Amino acid sequence: MAGDRPVKERVHDFDEVDTGLSMHNAVLEALRCMTCVIPKCVEGCPVNIDIPSFVGAVAANDLEKAAGILREENMLPAICGRVCPQETQCEGSCILGKKEKPVRVGALERFVADWEREKGVVLPETAPPSGRRVAVVGSGPAGLTAAAELAKSGHEVVIFESLHEAGGVLTYGIPSFRLPKEIVREEIRMVQDLGVEIRTNHVVGRSVPVEELLSYDAVFLASGAGLPYFIGIEGESLNGVYSANEFLTRVNLMHADSFPKFDTPVKKGGRVVVVGAGNVAMDAARVAKRMGAEVKLIYRRRKEDFPARLAEVEHASEEGIEFVCCTNPVRIIGSDGRVAAVECIRMEMCDPDESGRPAPEPIEGSEFTIDADVCIIAIGQGPNPLISSLIDGLETGKKGNVVVDNDGRTSIPHVFAAGDITTGAATVISAMGSAKTAADSINRMLSD
Ligand code: FAD
Ligand code: SF4
Repeated sequence: MAGDRPVKERVHDFDEVDTGLSMHNAVLEALRCMTCVIPKCVEGCPVNIDIPSFVGAVAANDLEKAAGILREENMLPAICGRVCPQETQCEGSCILGKKEKPVRVGALERFVADWEREKGVVLPETAPPSGRRVAVVGSGPAGLTAAAELAKSGHEVVIFESLHEAGGVLTYGIPSFRLPKEIVREEIRMVQDLGVEIRTNHVVGRSVPVEELLSYDAVFLASGAGLPYFIGIEGESLNGVYSANEFLTRVNLMHADSFPKFDTPVKKGGRVVVVGAGNVAMDAARVAKRMGAEVKLIYRRRKEDFPARLAEVEHASEEGIEFVCCTNPVRIIGSDGRVAAVECIRMEMCDPDESGRPAPEPIEGSEFTIDADVCIIAIGQGPNPLISSLIDGLETGKKGNVVVDNDGRTSIPHVFAAGDITTGAATVISAMGSAKTAADSINRMLSD
């Protein structure tokens, strides 16, 4: 079966941890599928891949057919096979999972997509040019998916991306030991090969005026949820405090781990405290570990309450990240303007709160400090308000998210939106699923 690289080896580099399935094991795994008459896994997949057919094609050794089935619904299969939370989606709905382990749909998807990339991808057909122009804001999974769908329908699609490299969180957030960057680049290249133009270093609302954006026949907003939340405690502006987004962007996008070869610095080694226990916190902790740090991750609830995927928690634990549970930071202590320690308080679990989980309450007098050189805040992020604040009449919700109907329509007739900008921080595949729905609506509008 798929294996992870030995811990001793992998904590010193950024190469992929999971080595993937061999052909032999992929076929064995695919043969476990019961080809259910009512396949629950398909309902569990936000982009509705015909999972029994693609898995059946692997079982029959027909990888070309399997790849074709995947690509009908998903332009980013090598990415999804690696980062989708399959345990709560397709694999979580697999009937086999009631008695034994579910079929490893994600590992099979990755296997087929990797095979196809090596062999050379056959792109889907595109319709003749429609003469209609669509502007897409943001090149994350939502922007790329909608752009690909619209290009297949013959529209001229331009993606505006503020960063110097396309991919959104796939490029700047998720570290390469979980999602190698060459795979992201290759899947983006396939979207470009469909005729999509990507203009990087183009910030809508700054270098691209909103009037220019709105002059397109349709506009698709997919600018994500890249605005990090802070805790609001003393010391958060000290040197050495980063949001997880900034820390990960410095390393993944700006190559700060190779400073001074690259211009962007980041504190390497030392003692790092990460606040939070979601996937983003695990990524930040594991990146810091690979740069030689001793890492403690603090969370106000218990380990069983960690929001991160179990696999990420296990990987982080194996790699030596220390979890300090039932603990909340109350102040970051500085020395000469730099982080020196994080003052914390112990928490006890009380009656359930509105989330249904036991509510953490501080234990009076239990304060203690953890010495630290760096503190990374990973408690969540929300939509950046730049674009929505500049488009007159665009309805937004309480958290700054763009409000859409079930078809991805905003309050402005030719403006659509999907992904994290509409939901707040979510998942790659949910961004892709909602982007496909919005692209369908754009298509219908443009063909009326
Ligand atoms: P994004 O990926 O955020 O892309 C938005 C793009 O818009 C960005 O490139 C941004 O630069 C650009 N942009 C913003 N404003 C402008 C502007 N004004 N002009 C032009 N461009 C603009 N999900 C999973 O399913 N599995 C995981 O393992 C996982 N791990 C994660 C790890 C990290 C560190 C983070 C931060 C998130 C993770 N997620 C994961 C969540 C997932 O990546 C997001 O839900 C997903 O990327 C959202 O896609 P999107 O296209 O809506 O937005
Ligand atoms: Fe499962 Fe994600 Fe693939 Fe859908 S796209 S089948 S959710 S791994």
